Amino acid sequence: MIDLHTHTNESDGTYTPFELVDSAVALGLEALAISDHDTLAGYDQALPRAQEKGLDLVCGIELSTKSNGKTVHLLGYFLAQPPSGGFRDWLAEMQATRRDRNRRMAERLRSLGIDITIEEVEKKGRSLTGRPHFARLMLEKGYVSSIQQAFDEYLDESAKGYVDREEPELSASIQRLRAAGGISSIAHPVRLGYRDPGKLRTLVGEMRDAGLGALECYHSDHKAHDVEQYLGLTREFELGVTGGSDFHGDAKPNVRLGVGTGNLNIPRSVLDHLREIRPS
Ligand code: AMP
Ligand code: FE
Ligand code: FE
Ligand code: ZN
Repeated sequence: MIDLHTHTNESDGTYTPFELVDSAVALGLEALAISDHDTLAGYDQALPRAQEKGLDLVCGIELSTKSNGKTVHLLGYFLAQPPSGGFRDWLAEMQATRRDRNRRMAERLRSLGIDITIEEVEKKGRSLTGRPHFARLMLEKGYVSSIQQAFDEYLDESAKGYVDREEPELSASIQRLRAAGGISSIAHPVRLGYRDPGKLRTLVGEMRDAGLGALECYHSDHKAHDVEQYLGLTREFELGVTGGSDFHGDAKPNVRLGVGTGNLNIPRSVLDHLREIRPS
């Protein structure tokens, strides 16, 4: 069993990179990818620990991108070596625009009567502070009674406290990953919310032409019929397959490492195949 989609506390997970490696080893995972949102800091810290423990650790990332006004999460995997400085500089630029958005969002929330400062929110995050950290602080201060309520009432894209952030285009992000030696994979396609399967097919076809490498077919949110649909698209468009739990530690307690919400069980062959098709 492997898990190619996990988060540490360098983004919005709660496990430290060390704890995540140790948990993967304890569970007997054959490979683990750390795919934090917009940062490689968790992977960088985990690598020496993984080497010490003999764990096959894959360098990954999950980018928030935009396509036709919709947010699309894009996974990237660096199977040969971690990305170069140029890619890291690009991530640093995105972190700067996110920080700017966070400042404006703290102000908006203050204007709505929520007494929080950007300093307090940033203390909750490490390399990256995002909306989940806002939600945690609002819960702690008693403005909401759950993380979900914080999103529903304030932080969701359609809610009154939300402030937009400039996100890179999906196709440009695919090309960035590729130029940095990575293979890209559209994360949890089910969350795109397309009722008409033809829409996803069109997007996948277009993105394949832009250099897309794979589709995340296995994910905690995917039902058996979703998996079949996505595997079908990978065959049709000759794409790779990725999969993982999307583990966030105690931030999403119903999703467990490796097994997801119960019986996710991704075979090692998925990673072996990715390694075969990766662009050289
Ligand atoms: P950010 O990148 O700071 O805009 O935050 C995005 C993250 O917030 C996503 O990766 C999700 O984990 C979380 N999120 C976004 N919308 C919702 C929602 N409606 N309910 C719960 N979590 C959400
Ligand atoms: Fe997340
Ligand atoms: Fe995601
Ligand atoms: Zn994720």
